[in-house]
Amino acid sequence: MAHIIALANQKGGVGKTTTTVNLGAALASHGKRVLIIDADPQGNATSGLGIKKSSIEDEHEIYDVLVHGAKPADVILKTSHDNLEIIPATIRLAGAELELAPVMARETRLKEAIATIEAQYDYILIDNPPSLGLITINTFTTADAVLIPVQAEYYALEGLGQLLSSITQIKSLLNPDLGIEGVLLTMVDGRTNLSNEVEEAVRNYFNEEQVYHTVIPRNVRLSEAPSHGLAIIDYDPKSKGSEVYTKLSEEVLAAHDDI
Ligand code: ADP
Ligand code: MG
Repeated sequence: MAHIIALANQKGGVGKTTTTVNLGAALASHGKRVLIIDADPQGNATSGLGIKKSSIEDEHEIYDVLVHGAKPADVILKTSHDNLEIIPATIRLAGAELELAPVMARETRLKEAIATIEAQYDYILIDNPPSLGLITINTFTTADAVLIPVQAEYYALEGLGQLLSSITQIKSLLNPDLGIEGVLLTMVDGRTNLSNEVEEAVRNYFNEEQVYHTVIPRNVRLSEAPSHGLAIIDYDPKSKGSEVYTKLSEEVLAAHDDI
């Protein structure tokens, strides 16, 4: 069965989408069968992997899986990267929070849908919106574990308590096996004291073994790649960004005895 990992942090701009896309591609390059589920109405993972919104067939996106009971197998798209597929999202997904509110078993819609395709993948990575609403409840109910990207900035720890208590709540109510996959420091600028202090604070806040050894530095190539519709490993395989996401993928594989 697939390892299902939700990438979440209710702060925007911390590297959730960048990590979903580039970790996904790096795992796929190790020969793993990877599915990315774009669960953010902004659809940045979708466009970042070169899927044009106009090319998505009507009612063939994550919204239709969540709200209309579309079959995941019918909405999966291939990407230009071998072994890497995606269930796309568009802004229509923004409606799901309200439309699901009165629906029975609304918290388990995604879990039930994904159960039908899980066996076809080694890793399923779910990119989350910057909020802790019903979409995120669905992804936390579906996932085995949450990967938390934390941006190395002054307020890095702010809001993490709320995120962790959401995880605890989902664990006690809906998904007893939900764990923390790992905490990833992103946009680290190793030359500054601030970055070093934040890194130390994050490592102290969590258990040491929960924080990845690999940290993601600021790398301009990482911010350019999405506009070319490519993961960093394809856009600029020799870049620092490509190197660190490959290292991260190896840490993830090792954690699952899968390397
Ligand atoms: P989130 O999904 O959490 O909102 P993103 O992954 O979209 O965050 O990242 C926010 C912005 O920062 C994007 O423009 C992205 O290209 C850029 N970015 C992310 N990680 C890095 C990095 N390590 N170096 C440089 N730019 C980055
Ligand atoms: Mg995002």
